[in-house]
Amino acid sequence: MLPSLQSITPEILKSQLVDWKQPAYRGDQILDWVYHKRAVTVDSMSNLPKDLREQLDKNFKCYLPDCMQKQGSDDTTQKFLWKLNDGAFVESVLIPANPALYGEASDRHTLCISTQVGCAYGCKFCASGLDGWKRNLEPEEILGQLLAIEHHFQPKLKQGQGRKVNNLVIMGMGEPMANYENLMKALKIANAPWGCNIGARKITISTSGLAPQIVALSREPFQFRLAISLHGATDEVRSRIMPINRKYPIKDLMDACRQYLNKKGKMITFEYILIEGVNDGQNQIQPLADWARELHAKVNLIPYNTVEGLPWSRPEEDIQESFLEGLLSRGINATLRREKGHDIDAACGQLRLKVEKGLTE
Ligand code: SAH
Ligand code: SF4
Repeated sequence: MLPSLQSITPEILKSQLVDWKQPAYRGDQILDWVYHKRAVTVDSMSNLPKDLREQLDKNFKCYLPDCMQKQGSDDTTQKFLWKLNDGAFVESVLIPANPALYGEASDRHTLCISTQVGCAYGCKFCASGLDGWKRNLEPEEILGQLLAIEHHFQPKLKQGQGRKVNNLVIMGMGEPMANYENLMKALKIANAPWGCNIGARKITISTSGLAPQIVALSREPFQFRLAISLHGATDEVRSRIMPINRKYPIKDLMDACRQYLNKKGKMITFEYILIEGVNDGQNQIQPLADWARELHAKVNLIPYNTVEGLPWSRPEEDIQESFLEGLLSRGINATLRREKGHDIDAACGQLRLKVEKGLTE
């Protein structure tokens, strides 16, 4: 199996170019083609001499995932279903800025990407784990989702506006911390000025709570943002819906978060999906507020998106609002996502399941 150009680094290129007796500046040109111009073939790298293109073709593969299906239109949330080389499917979701909702600059685009095919963690409410875990994504498959989307929009980008995506969230299918090495390789490139040049503060990693990897991340030289899928403020409630909590109970998870906070000084986010009758009780508010205060964390409340085949649903709006009010009145920095209806953005894993079912039936 040839290494991929879509995860190439200047270090690898440098030694390769020495071997091929090519001048060092060719390395910058290749990086520019791969990460800035999102080239899909070596042949299109028009300022490289023919012999170098042949060397590249022989020794590397030029790879972007295949878009099998796209849902949504250009000014709404769009979901992309990718087919990988071995036939596996993963999803990415592109969420345009919504200045009215979030007061953001209107040119902000967030891309949510996947890190594994399926997921081994089996959270009871989640579509991504329904069929178990198949494999880790390679660095070029993680990064390839970003490059393929930017390639897709390339003809529409205004002159001089080189990027479509300026905010990256690792919240698609899979548990990113369980594919730690490949994730770090991909994010290093996403962040690097010679790579995709997305600021580390614009990259958020979401985890169901793999405490040792959170500690490992705190030792990395990157300022990525960290989001914890908490979804329960006591071990009793959390263990019922997230099996990982039996391995790393809330206290251990919070110890790891404290280390991250102390090392990075970055505010952590607690994601908290509100699921009717499961974790939306008033008795969760005080312990959640206590953890958030202790860790200086922000709480993101997200009404549950129903998943076909699963029995869970979102609570009524008044329950959602009173949960939020309970946190705000305790002085916690908390928000509630108030989009109407069930949008497609938080329900990663469902499109893949549907398509796979359709293909096998
Ligand atoms: N495995 C990581 C990242 C992927 S899941 C994690 O668990 O954090 C990204 C987020 O979507 C998590 O917070 C997850 O709990 C949430 N999620 C999963 N299924 C959902 C659903 N049906 N409705 C709303 N959020 C969901
Ligand atoms: Fe995996 Fe995250 Fe879904 Fe849990 S919520 S099953 S960890 S993708």
